[in-house]
Amino acid sequence: MGDAAENSTVVVIGGGPAGLFAAELLSRAGMPVTVYDRMPTFGRKLQMAGRGGLNLTHSEPLDAFLKRYGTACAFLAPAIEAFPPAALRDWAAGLGQETFVGSSGRVFPKAMKAAPLLRAWLTRLREQGCVFRFRMEWQGWDGDGNLLFRGPDGVQETVSPSATVLALGGASWPRLGSTGAWTGILADRGVAIAPLRPANAGFLVDWSDVFRERFQGQPLKNVALSCGGQSVRGDAMVTAYGIEGGAVYALSAMLRDRIESDGKAVLHVDFCPDRTADDLVRRLGRPRGKRSQSDFLRRALGLPPIAINLMREAVGPSLPRDPAVLAALIQAVPIELTAPNSIERAISSAGGIDLAELDGNLMLKRLPGVFAAGEMLDWEAPTGGYLLQGAYASGAAAARGILAWLKHVRAQVPNHP
Ligand SMILES: Cc1cc2nc3c(=O)[nH]c(=O)nc-3n(C[C@H](O)[C@H](O)[C@H](O)COP(=O)(O)OP(=O)(O)OC[C@H]3O[C@@H](n4cnc5c(N)ncnc54)[C@H](O)[C@@H]3O)c2cc1C
Repeated sequence: MGDAAENSTVVVIGGGPAGLFAAELLSRAGMPVTVYDRMPTFGRKLQMAGRGGLNLTHSEPLDAFLKRYGTACAFLAPAIEAFPPAALRDWAAGLGQETFVGSSGRVFPKAMKAAPLLRAWLTRLREQGCVFRFRMEWQGWDGDGNLLFRGPDGVQETVSPSATVLALGGASWPRLGSTGAWTGILADRGVAIAPLRPANAGFLVDWSDVFRERFQGQPLKNVALSCGGQSVRGDAMVTAYGIEGGAVYALSAMLRDRIESDGKAVLHVDFCPDRTADDLVRRLGRPRGKRSQSDFLRRALGLPPIAINLMREAVGPSLPRDPAVLAALIQAVPIELTAPNSIERAISSAGGIDLAELDGNLMLKRLPGVFAAGEMLDWEAPTGGYLLQGAYASGAAAARGILAWLKHVRAQVPNHP
C-alpha cells in the first residue's frame, strides 16, 4: 500500500467468498482489515456448495462466460475480465487446491470439497493480519454514521472504519447466514433495491398423488427441457413438491419471470432429444403385437416408466395411438409449473442492490466509503460456477475500488483516516 491509505482501516461485513476475497486483497495491500459475520464461522454457504462437488468456475471462452450474467453482463464484465476464471483456478492452486475441468466444462477442485480450500484460505488471511469477528450481526449505522453491530450477548458495538465492504450475500438458504435483512437497512438510506427472489430454484408442480408417490426422487436423465424458445440439455429430478435439478435451474430465471407475469409456466420435456421426429414416427409405426403400450415404448425407444407416466400426467391414462401425435408428445411433454420453490431452498437469489447505485469502484454513490460485492448486488447467473466467479470477481473489484478511493481521498484531504 502506498502512503495514500496509511492509517486507514477497512471493515468487511460478510465472511463469504466475496467478503473474504476483498479482505485478502486489502490485507495483502497492507490495510488493517477486520471481517465481521453474524455466524460462528465463515463461508457456510461455500461449504454447502462443496457438498455437491464445489463448482468453482467454468472453462468456456470468456465471451460466452460473460453472457451467462444476462442483463448484468456489461456491469460485471470489467470485474470478471480483471479476475477471470483462470485467475480463480490459479488462486485455488495457490492454496493447495488444484482444479480440473469436468466433462461439462465446469471447474472443480480435485478434492471436490470446500473445506480444505476454506481452511487454507482462513490461515492465509490470519497470517496477513486479518482480524475475524464472529457472531457479530451488522444492524446498520448509528446516528453518528458509525457501523453498528450486535454481539452474541446482545451488546451493541460501533466501529468507524475508513471504508466498508458490504458482502452480506443474497437470501437463499438463510440458515447459512445470508438472510437478506440488509435490504431494509440500505433501503432506509435511499438505496434502490430489487426484491430478492429465488434463482436456480426448483418449481412447484401439482402432481397426482399416484405419480408423486411412485416417482419422487427419480431423475429425468439426458432430457431436453424447453420453454419460450429456450432449450437446455441435462438432467432434472422429480420431487414431492415438483421438479428441480441442473437443467431446470438453467431455465429458472425465465420460468420464474413467466410465472410472475402469467401465473404459470409450461416446461416441455423432450425424452428423445437425439432422435428426429421422423425417426420416432417410423419406430412408433412398427407393429406393437400383444405388448402393452408401456412395454412397446420401452423397447422401441428405451423410455423409462417415469417418462411414460409423465406423459400420462399430461394427457390422461391413454396415450395417443397415432405415431405422429405420440412422437410429438414424447418430444414435448408439458409440465405446468405453478410457482418457484421457496427462496429458502434456492441455490441463489436474484435481485439486490440496483447496479445503478454503484460507481465503477463498486462504491455506493449515496454512501461514500461504503462498497458492495457478491450476491447482494442485483445480478443472477445459472449454476456452472458463474455464481462463485461473480462473487470473487466483485469482491476483488471492491477491494481495488477501496484502494483507489482511499488514495483519492487522501490526496484531497491529507488527514483523512
Ligand atoms: C446448496 C448450494 C450450492 C451451491 N453451489 C454452488 C456451486 O457449486 N458453484 C457456484 O458458483 N455457486 C454455488 N452456490 C452459490 C454460492 O455459494 C453463492 O453465490 C456465494 O456463496 C455468494 O457469495 P457471497 O460472498 O456473495 O455471499 P455468502 O456466501 O452468502 O456470504 C455472505 C455472508 O454474510 C453474512 N451476513 C449476512 N448478513 C449479515 C449481517 N447482518 N451481519 C453480519 N454478517 C452477515 C453471512 O453469514 C454470510 O457468511 C451454491 C449455493 C447453495 C445454497
